[in-house]
Amino acid sequence: MLTGAGGVAIGVDLGGTKIEAAAIEGGDRVIVRRRVPTPQAEGYEAVIAAAVGLVRDVAREAGVDVATVPLGFGMPGGVTRRTGLVKNSNAVCVNGRPFRADFAAAMGRPVAFDNDANCFAIAEARLGAAAAHRDGVVFGVILGSGVGGGVVVRGEIWPGAQGIAGEWGHHAVYAGRGAVCYCGQRGCLETFASGPAVEADYARRAGSALPLAEIAARRGADPHADAALEGLIDAFGRGLANVVDVLDPSAIVIGGGVSNLDLIYDEGAARVARYVFNDELTTPILRHALGDSAGVFGAALIARGA
Ligand SMILES: [Zn+2]
Repeated sequence: MLTGAGGVAIGVDLGGTKIEAAAIEGGDRVIVRRRVPTPQAEGYEAVIAAAVGLVRDVAREAGVDVATVPLGFGMPGGVTRRTGLVKNSNAVCVNGRPFRADFAAAMGRPVAFDNDANCFAIAEARLGAAAAHRDGVVFGVILGSGVGGGVVVRGEIWPGAQGIAGEWGHHAVYAGRGAVCYCGQRGCLETFASGPAVEADYARRAGSALPLAEIAARRGADPHADAALEGLIDAFGRGLANVVDVLDPSAIVIGGGVSNLDLIYDEGAARVARYVFNDELTTPILRHALGDSAGVFGAALIARGA
């Protein structure tokens, strides 16, 4: 149900370096958009105060009542349902704290929350690269400093019975191999297919570090780059083939820093086809269409609940 002036909702996207908020009308028209640095060094209370101030500023500029406008909030990491405490967020000062309850209390009103991968997935499924598949099942992937994902079924996030649906970054693609993940297991996709994992693999082989984009640019000219990128392609192919085997989605949308590599969509997709339990792969594997805006769009969409 749409509430608020003219169907306006406010979405907030909390990241490790910036907090962004936007007032969005009719689901896809940005009226006001503002961002501030995440004051992590100043601590937890400062992050809450910065987010509250940002929402109030955006509401005022958009001419909506901050007490009643639908308000959604996306952030990395999850929440332990039993305790309400944040876990695994790269805005590290909120980890172990009841951020959702504290932010809603500071706002003095209810707030819809979800993780950044689910916000990305619903935004791309409804408004972005997979909009043609919005009546089906869309698997949204964040392939960046971590590996996350979200499942959208007929335009709605499927959170899962325990809230962990889509967390494909922590299924084992090479059981028992690789570095121990922060989750405690070994073999997690994230330890092979995240940007830092590929950079670490290159540095181990080459003896010197390079950012991912430069590693990709050395393809065909540097055997260490070729080996590191092959590691990415193979882990991506195995991981996504496993997801397709279980979920068989209508479309897959890829976001995050690693999604900017062209090889994801040709060699990566071909590797998914090699490993999938089928003699062909017709699933579209799509590059994100909303860019940095997916976070605030997705947060505004969950705010609406429509
Ligand atoms: Zn893990």
